[in-house]
Amino acid sequence: MDARHAILFEPVTIGPKTLPNRFYQVPHASGFGSGRPRTQAAFRAIKAEGGWGGVCVEYAPISPDSDDLPAISAEIWDDRDARALGLAAEAIHAHGSLAGLELYHGGASCPNGNSRSVRLAPSQITSGVQWSGLAKEMDRDDIARVQRDWVDAARRARDVGFDIVYVYGAHGYLMTQFLSTDANRRTDGYGGSLANRGRFWLETLAGVREAIGGDCAIAARIAVHGDSGVPGAEGLPGIHVDEMLALVKMADDLVDLWDVTVGSWPEDSGTSRYFPEGHERAWAHQVREATTKPVVAVGRYSNPDLMAEVIRSGAVDLIGSARQAIADPYLPRKIAENRLDEIRECTGSNVCILREEVFNQIGCVQNATAGEEYRRGWHPELFPAAADPDRSVLIVGAGPAGMECAVVLGKRGFAAVHLVEAEPEIGGRLRWARQLPTLGDWGRIIDWRAVQLARLPGVQVITGRRLTAADVLDYGADLVVIATGSTWRGDGVQNGYPDPMPGADPGSPHVLTPEQIWAGKRPPGAQVCVYDTDGYYVAPGMAELLAREGFQVSIVTTFDVLSPVSDQTLEGDMLRAHVHRAGINVRTATTMTGIGARSVTGHDRQGEPWSADFDGIVLVTQQAPTDTLYTELASNQAALAEAGIGGLYRIGDAVAPRMISEAIFDGHRMAREIDSSDPDRPATYLRERAEIS
Ligand code: ADP
Repeated sequence: MDARHAILFEPVTIGPKTLPNRFYQVPHASGFGSGRPRTQAAFRAIKAEGGWGGVCVEYAPISPDSDDLPAISAEIWDDRDARALGLAAEAIHAHGSLAGLELYHGGASCPNGNSRSVRLAPSQITSGVQWSGLAKEMDRDDIARVQRDWVDAARRARDVGFDIVYVYGAHGYLMTQFLSTDANRRTDGYGGSLANRGRFWLETLAGVREAIGGDCAIAARIAVHGDSGVPGAEGLPGIHVDEMLALVKMADDLVDLWDVTVGSWPEDSGTSRYFPEGHERAWAHQVREATTKPVVAVGRYSNPDLMAEVIRSGAVDLIGSARQAIADPYLPRKIAENRLDEIRECTGSNVCILREEVFNQIGCVQNATAGEEYRRGWHPELFPAAADPDRSVLIVGAGPAGMECAVVLGKRGFAAVHLVEAEPEIGGRLRWARQLPTLGDWGRIIDWRAVQLARLPGVQVITGRRLTAADVLDYGADLVVIATGSTWRGDGVQNGYPDPMPGADPGSPHVLTPEQIWAGKRPPGAQVCVYDTDGYYVAPGMAELLAREGFQVSIVTTFDVLSPVSDQTLEGDMLRAHVHRAGINVRTATTMTGIGARSVTGHDRQGEPWSADFDGIVLVTQQAPTDTLYTELASNQAALAEAGIGGLYRIGDAVAPRMISEAIFDGHRMAREIDSSDPDRPATYLRERAEIS
């Protein structure tokens, strides 16, 4: 270990427990909850194995009136739930780490649609939550009952082995609703002054402490109002940092660990597009100065020098992490063993959150094994040895899919893997995506793989060579994996319009595709329209690129908002504010159906005609797989047999254009399963289902 990092490996005492080091995986959702307990346990255990001294499960609703379905949470309503979650505590303990559970009540934020319980809130006011209908203003009995539920849940958590039990007071949920002057309009002893607004929280902390304080560390998660200055990331209304600091002092005797979050979730889990590493540091530091207890805060830390410096500076006692721990569960071990260039750095793109929120199955663009530990048996650092390492493999195309496939084949011990790329550099679409405004950290996907590829003795990377079908047949490989990716179509084909759009001809000067822009083509005049039916990062990126060069740019999109996918990564509001400040006009809910020499035509959602004048049109409509190499080879089985090619497979966008995370997953899976009898077909995986006896 580098002496500079030794401070990260000091033990830290929290109440009756001692963390073995300063690496702490804060509570974060996974989609596994208490319903998939083995998946949950394996997902958390790998972090303990990788050296995280504290590992928490996700938010755990304490009763049916905190029912958050369809979002998946670690419900701990009864002993059976608790036993399910106890598997995670056990698995975390097996590696010498402490296990934490974040007890939670969402108050007015819970839909309660499944339980049909009435929603509870300090006051009956309209909340920003989308559910129709109002919450009940909690009476004294409700308050006492929720506090009893909290204490009962805390006992259950202790009884199944959790070491750290939370009283969750951040992110706009029930505790925060009580603290907020906007959400709490009560005139009794639970509203008004800070002491009154804090009473519910302090009483709950005291109850939990009395019940389990001798056995467990009591953690409180709090939010301070961030005021980050990032438009679209405004923090919590009605709670100011001075009040939060006063509350920390009032509650300090009841708490063993302060888990500090900043502002709302989009700011707290701020993406690399808008927030630098360590962006929460100043806020955490203020809390640390107000308390005598240890403080943990996140900040997407991946740089061990910075981590050590943050601890030394006194801003925090523990390095909190959700996303970096997902990207690299082995980060602490790699630091301990001074294998710094093996750290898989988080890209800060929040694909983990998108996957967990939308699909109830967390995933990671950098770490394809995240969430697959139990069901597929995948380990982020261990790879099954190749059945026949001497079989040579040719991978055509070094985009995300091809790079990942080559890394995993190399780690499996394949002795002759050739990764051949047409362009002078590896990276595929990321070569240009990483150079779009705000997307620089996405380049970490290439960087980590470039370092790995350079060290794997069995892998050779060949750039600047575009292979034809004849080249592949002549290459002499036993197995061939086609990873030739995709390109943006310039013909305007889009959802609901399967035929090319009249006038959409990327051969003409005024119609452009993203790749053409990247290659240097520019619109013939100043007024440019970026037409987006893709909904993610490409259209805003292209628009900003052109705006920075002085073009007057408008984005026209079929969606109700610009870049709806960015809402799933918590970036939507910030992205739209950013685009607005870049001077880019946005027109939503509009379909383009024709392109003229200097104008476009279409219609709005109501079918009313729409037209506008532009000098150039950038079509971000649909991608097409670059699959001619594959189809040519696949259609000539005799030639393949004659060339001794025993398997021809296809991965990534060459199969179907998808998000980068899915292309990487595809490459990873193929490399792990290439020895199977049918590698194109994913192996079945374990599913946790209710037992039927
Ligand atoms: P994916 O995300 O599926 O990896 P990308 O489109 O990002 O797809 O990357 C595909 C890569 O394949 C690009 O870098 C491209 O230059 C390369 N490529 C495409 N066709 C060939 C070919 N015939 N020979 C070598 N490389 C190719």
